[in-house]
Amino acid sequence: MKKDDVYIRRCIDLSKKSLKDDELPFGSLIIKGGRIIAESGNRTKIDGDITSHAEMVVMKKAQKVLNTQNLSDCTIYTSTEPCPMCSFMIRELKFKKVVFAVHSPIMGGSTHFKILQDRRLERIRNFYTKPPLIVGRVLEKEASEVWDEWRLKENEPKDSL
Ligand SMILES: [Zn+2]
Repeated sequence: MKKDDVYIRRCIDLSKKSLKDDELPFGSLIIKGGRIIAESGNRTKIDGDITSHAEMVVMKKAQKVLNTQNLSDCTIYTSTEPCPMCSFMIRELKFKKVVFAVHSPIMGGSTHFKILQDRRLERIRNFYTKPPLIVGRVLEKEASEVWDEWRLKENEPKDSL
């Protein structure tokens, strides 16, 4: 199995756990040199903090573990395309690669808001570098099934993502 598939599968497992914990079904992890530096599901209810998206939680952890705010040698994996808030932090932490399963046409920081690929950010040289490599639709079907489960539970429409 491809490495991207292995890590996305772990993200999907984390998203399933989040759903069980009555959180939104997101899961994310960060890899450096083939090693998992941080992993988490969504924690907005657990933390009582609306900014505790799975990606934000792992980005905070990775900065502490690695003691740096430059994660240009890291890849972030997430079960769903990162939102605008998380996408900005991905750019500011200078990730080299972003991998996700499900696209988010409404909330996505790449599909909708174009933050992940925005080249104008590079002009602010001390804070941003070139856009990361973006890999989407990895194990998309498996990750979508978790969202289907959530939609059923919350009575949300089919295109709510
Ligand atoms: Zn987010």
